[in-house]
Amino acid sequence: GGLVIAIDGPSGSGKSSTAKGVARARDLRYLDTGAMYRAMTWWMLTHGIDVADAGAVAEAAECPVITMGTDPDAPAVRVDGVDVAGAIRTDEVTSNVSAVSAVPRVRELLVARQREIIAEARVASSGIVVEGRDITTVVAPDAPVKLFLTASAEARAQRRSREVRAADVAATQAALARRDRLDSTRSVSPLTQTADATELDTTGLSLDEVVALVVKLADE
Ligand code: C5P
Repeated sequence: GGLVIAIDGPSGSGKSSTAKGVARARDLRYLDTGAMYRAMTWWMLTHGIDVADAGAVAEAAECPVITMGTDPDAPAVRVDGVDVAGAIRTDEVTSNVSAVSAVPRVRELLVARQREIIAEARVASSGIVVEGRDITTVVAPDAPVKLFLTASAEARAQRRSREVRAADVAATQAALARRDRLDSTRSVSPLTQTADATELDTTGLSLDEVVALVVKLADE
């Protein structure tokens, strides 16, 4: 079957840009698993579910039908047929997604779907680049290429501020730190760096340099 490249790392470490760049360079599919947790969160907020109530979130998690496109140039995200690519990037979704992604039933459902998408891509294409928080540890621990991207807190905040056009870099850095803390300390599948994933510190590197390094690793 096709190649699987698994990429984990904290928010703003460059996972999405890197994963898309590598997918384009090697003609692979691309899966943004964070977008799936965001889509689930968007649905909960839209339907008035209290995201602090883990039981309510677990029960409601069965309802939304989340479908993902895997084209790195147009990674579609749909919930019940509605395009939510823009709606899942609001501050409201961003500040609530860690609570929703910490609910075991949510992870069970989304990880199963992610594994299906990976299996499909391995049959139908030359492979897939998958990025998130638990790809190297839980979703695809047997992937032949496993990476853990890091960058300094300042570099991550600067990148994220540019992406969302936020003027207040300090506030962005505080929000990233909060989300990373929640994502790394939750009881199910916390963000963790394992010894068998190659660490890549992207702080002083351009996107092209990072993509070239990953492509080189994949070719080895
Ligand atoms: O990658 P992104 O920042 O869009 O991810 C949004 C959130 O989704 C993360 O902060 C985390 O709570 C959750 N997530 C996760 N596991 C993944 C990917 C994302 O828990 N594999």
